[in-house]
Amino acid sequence: MKPITELVLASHNAGKLKELQAMLGSHIKVRAVSEFSSIEPEETGLSFIENAILKARHAAQVSGLPALADDSGLAVDALGGAPGIYSARYADGQGDAANNAKLLDVLKAVPDSERGAQFVCALALVRHAADPLPILCEGLWHGRILHEARGAQGFGYDPLFWVAERNCSSAELPAAEKNQLSHRARAMALLKQRLGLADA
Ligand code: IMP
Repeated sequence: MKPITELVLASHNAGKLKELQAMLGSHIKVRAVSEFSSIEPEETGLSFIENAILKARHAAQVSGLPALADDSGLAVDALGGAPGIYSARYADGQGDAANNAKLLDVLKAVPDSERGAQFVCALALVRHAADPLPILCEGLWHGRILHEARGAQGFGYDPLFWVAERNCSSAELPAAEKNQLSHRARAMALLKQRLGLADA
């Protein structure tokens, strides 16, 4: 198949565009879907992968370019994988602090041994809107949910996510270190391998 030299990223988040452009390096030029459309498709899937695919197809359709989408969130073992694909709006759209407060409350009686969780990142790359064979990569980052928030870096659930291999929460990790360990970094490493890009 023809190598991909330019793609559109199905995200309106400037931070993600920068992060993913940095990870893909000079191999592929990354453009924002906002250059082509301000409409965000409804995330109707039941899994990270389904939502990543539908966002990628939409971005390919509006741009006419190959498209990459990512969908991510936190899956807590004791909650059957919740908040999962609903991570961003767990507390009904009230934001990160409310999401974290709700998670701590729901888990207040759960002992350490049952507080396992993973951050999940699903990436979907389609060559065109109707691509029957999307490239799909998932990255998991295993950790444990703390009993109270720690650290001020990162975003979302980072202050509640204990990273055993660094003995700190993910909100206490410098950004560069988080970006080497995280679910997104793991999924991107797999994608680079699948695309045959150097330093994968
Ligand atoms: P999205 O991929 O930007 O839609 O992220 C979904 C939600 O998952 C975010 O709003 C966060 O609540 C959570 N999330 C995803 N990745 C991370 C992370 O690296 N740290 C903390 N929270 C995350």
